[in-house]
This record gives sequence, C-alpha cells and structure tokens, in this order.
Amino acid sequence: MSEASAFIGLLQSINSAQNILSSLLGLRVSAEVSGKIAEANKHLIEMSERLMAAQAENAALITRIRQLEEVAVQAKRSESALEDYEMKQVGQGAFVYAVKEGHNICEPPHWLCPDCFSNGHKSILQHDILFSIKSECYLCPRCKTGVQAEKGRTPGINDQTP
Ligand SMILES: [Zn+2]
Repeated sequence: MSEASAFIGLLQSINSAQNILSSLLGLRVSAEVSGKIAEANKHLIEMSERLMAAQAENAALITRIRQLEEVAVQAKRSESALEDYEMKQVGQGAFVYAVKEGHNICEPPHWLCPDCFSNGHKSILQHDILFSIKSECYLCPRCKTGVQAEKGRTPGINDQTP
C-alpha cells in the first residue's frame, strides 16, 4: 500500500466514524451522550486535519528526497566524468587537467580548468583571443580563470609530455 492510499484509507475511516456518530445523534439519546458524541466528532475532525497536514509534509519530504537523489546522481556523473583526467603542466608554470594517456572519451581535444575541476565541475578551457608572443592563452568560461600555456602547446596532441 502506498503512502497516499494509506492516508486516503485513514481519512475514509475517520469519515465513516463521523457518519456513525452523526447517525447516533438521530437516535433518542440523552444530552450527556449527545455531548460525548459531539466531543468524539470534534476529535475526529482534529485527527483529519492533522492527518492532512502530515500528508502534505510527507509529500514535501518525498519531493525533497527525489531532489536530493537527483543531486546525488548528478554529482556521481560529474565525478565519473572527471576520472578520465589528470593534472598536466603546460608550461609557464601553468596547470590544466587533460585526458589521461590512453583514454578515449570521444570528444575533441580539450583541457579542463584546474579551479573548476577541484570544485567538481568539468569546464573546458577556451582559447582566448588575447595574444602573447610567449604563450597560448586559455580562459575558463565558468570561473574566468586564465591559463597561459607554452607557445604552440594545444590540447590533445602535445599535452602528454610533462
Ligand atoms: Zn574554471
């Protein structure tokens, strides 16, 4: 039985009890019994309200659990996507993350931003229009970190040399 059908079943039971109490009021009963029936009915109404509040809270918790499960799945995907990379020095004292030697990830050659990598994000460095005689300039579109690689050094072909 699902949570929702359990709640519905409880509400139906409370409703049935209220109907029985109402039918008792149709009989000739003393004022004292009538008072007790009204009191029991009041408790059943409170029970219904608390049950509906619990149902709303339960639904919110289920939604939150689903959101957290999705976050966990995304984090796992990101983590596994980063497992194909390793840190490489690209000259000028600059570091990037490049695809590990022997790994084929079916993507064009690229480097990842070291700052974003350490925060669990796969952010591909973009060749910057900034010109330098001594270096190749790359920029992270996510965090704007700039990387100056050795002149002529580009992702893919020559990023396996230390
Ligand atoms: Zn970055």
